[in-house]
Amino acid sequence: MKPRNFRGYDLDFTDKRVLVTGSSRGIGFDIAKMFLDAGARVAIHGSTEKSAGAAMERLADYEHMVAAPGDIGTVAGCESVVATAIEAFGGLDVLVNNAGVGAGRPIADCDEAMWDAHCDVNLKGLFFCCRAAIPELTKSNGNIVNIGSDAGIHGCPGITVYCATKAGVINMSRAMALEIAPDVRVNCVCPGYVDTDMIRLSVKKKADPEAAWQRMKDYSPLRRIASTEEIAYAVLYLASDKARNITGTSLAIDGGTTAGDKTIVGKNI
Ligand code: NAP
Repeated sequence: MKPRNFRGYDLDFTDKRVLVTGSSRGIGFDIAKMFLDAGARVAIHGSTEKSAGAAMERLADYEHMVAAPGDIGTVAGCESVVATAIEAFGGLDVLVNNAGVGAGRPIADCDEAMWDAHCDVNLKGLFFCCRAAIPELTKSNGNIVNIGSDAGIHGCPGITVYCATKAGVINMSRAMALEIAPDVRVNCVCPGYVDTDMIRLSVKKKADPEAAWQRMKDYSPLRRIASTEEIAYAVLYLASDKARNITGTSLAIDGGTTAGDKTIVGKNI
């Protein structure tokens, strides 16, 4: 695998120091890979040494990486992950909070453990990674990109708890952006369905997985499921100097899913 090289082009992150949580697989893996292509030094994170190590092996063609594993569901885990990246690189320019969990269940089946698991990783973990990184990001005039979801913009039945946490991510990004401006920018990317384990596993459990996959595609007006790379491009843009006047925003990359109700045509209500 030959690394692509963005150096000298628009999105140049040469020597920038980046931590991408949840980069052991899925969307985070491609975000980390694209930062490496763009010349950055990247801390690769997974919940365990094993998952972060496996990703490092898949990225063996690249230099300038460090493994920063740890549980984002605990404050101590968040602080340790961020400290590992900062110690390895001597500071931090970009934090991408991508690690997340999501499970679908009817409200009646949502118990305390499920509520806590979602809040611990998607909300508390994201917040405490930011808190740990902000002093270094302030020194470097850096920025944060949080991964929200279309489920944080509109309601999706069957994933109420996930919706609540992702709406929280979007508004937390706004509040933080205001509090830590002008030193550090904070933005949010909100994907619709993306082809990763997260949705492949839920589709697999359906009676007719092929039909479920098609329904997911049809859910978006553009009738497609995004690739991980399409999300990564947006993250790199928001993290780049080209986006220097953008903070507190949320960018939906959802094929138009949250643009409105496509079943309402003109005035025919
Ligand atoms: P994924 O394939 O399921 O990967 C999840 C990542 O998060 C893995 O790296 C995992 O590490 C890490 N993680 C989970 N729990 C953790 C914990 N307690 N501590 C540390 N790391 C933990 O997910 P994805 O589909 O790429 O999603 C990435 C982000 O995009 C999430 O925030 C998700 O909510 C959001 N999103 C996804 C979609 C979609 O359709 N896929 C749509 C909208 C938003 P391990 O490998 O060690 O488990």
